[in-house]
Amino acid sequence: MSKVQLKNISKSYESGNYAVKDINFEVDDKEFVVLVGPSGCGKSTILRMIAGLEEITSGELYIEDKRVNDISPKDRNIAMVFQNYALYPHMTVYENMAFGLKLRKFSKEEIKQRVSEAARILELEPYLERKPKALSGGQRQRVAVGRAIVRKPKVFLFDEPLSNLDAKMRVQMRTEISRLHKQLEATMIYVTHDQTEAMTMGNKIVVLKDGVINQISSPLDLYNSPANKFVAGFIGSPAMNFLKGKIVEENGLKFTSEKGTLSIGIPAIQSEKLTQYMNKNVYVGIRPEDIYDETNYGQISTYEKISVELDLVEPMGNEIYLYFQVEGVQFVARIPAREIPKHGSMKNLFIDISKIHFFDEKTETAIR
Ligand code: ADP
Repeated sequence: MSKVQLKNISKSYESGNYAVKDINFEVDDKEFVVLVGPSGCGKSTILRMIAGLEEITSGELYIEDKRVNDISPKDRNIAMVFQNYALYPHMTVYENMAFGLKLRKFSKEEIKQRVSEAARILELEPYLERKPKALSGGQRQRVAVGRAIVRKPKVFLFDEPLSNLDAKMRVQMRTEISRLHKQLEATMIYVTHDQTEAMTMGNKIVVLKDGVINQISSPLDLYNSPANKFVAGFIGSPAMNFLKGKIVEENGLKFTSEKGTLSIGIPAIQSEKLTQYMNKNVYVGIRPEDIYDETNYGQISTYEKISVELDLVEPMGNEIYLYFQVEGVQFVARIPAREIPKHGSMKNLFIDISKIHFFDEKTETAIR
């Protein structure tokens, strides 16, 4: 059972600055958990504390129900894969993978057996005698992963392992790491700033901002029920559109934007929770994929129509992104690629009002 538990963990520096504050989450045995958030939110600090590379200021860290705050990194039985791979340039692929085992005084046979097994899993067999400089970025990354695998650790930690790879290789390595997770039945904690990586790889995602956890949930739940405006805007691409306005009574509840450009009749199922916001400001959140055009709005039963002038049209192949302003705020809609509208043209768009999100203007928490 390779369970990892973080209880009320904080990290501060002498300056008094907090890198992370009151972090609580659990990683179950064989689970794949992703820590995601913008640069500087404290992801690496958390990972480095789990590895033992960074001291924990307060709180408790448990691995397999054992408190490990004061256990040295080498005795935690954890392997970390770094962003820059950290391979030894003068050693071959085989030697790079064998190095950690040699230091730990494993027998020659055991080392050979473990390195061969890792090379087979990672399809590195043809490259074992090469030096890192004769490998592609993706192959180097696989050697770095191989070095972790041979140790048979209780927990794998990945710190932005794909950020030095080109876009195509990143997608490929994403599936390779997911496959590896299933194959090895290992507990993995993975750090990234890329929400797509988080959404496609994690069973459970921890979303961080400014050193604080904003939400822990499954990818689907984060997308459908974001806890606040930050999570709503961070998860999903292109990002959710937001507009400030007021809840008013007008033959039922309505949202009206500050200048009255957008007025949305609130569906009955959303009304109850919004009555307490009567005459108060809120943010409405609309995902780009919940905006339809004349060709496909027949698919939705409850919509609000807006006429907009298109600032920018981005054909993506299978779909088109339409950019336009609503009261000076940039909006984007994602529609199927049929006819490509012209920049500067007027267009009628239809917002699926059964899918809209509301956020408290002050706390920015989701109104539920
Ligand atoms: P991330 O991995 O999410 O980009 P980090 O964990 O590297 O973020 O950093 C979290 C925060 O801690 C940042 O605001 C960073 O400036 C701060 N920090 C990191 N190391 C130190 C340090 N030695 N002294 C003071 N602040 C630090």
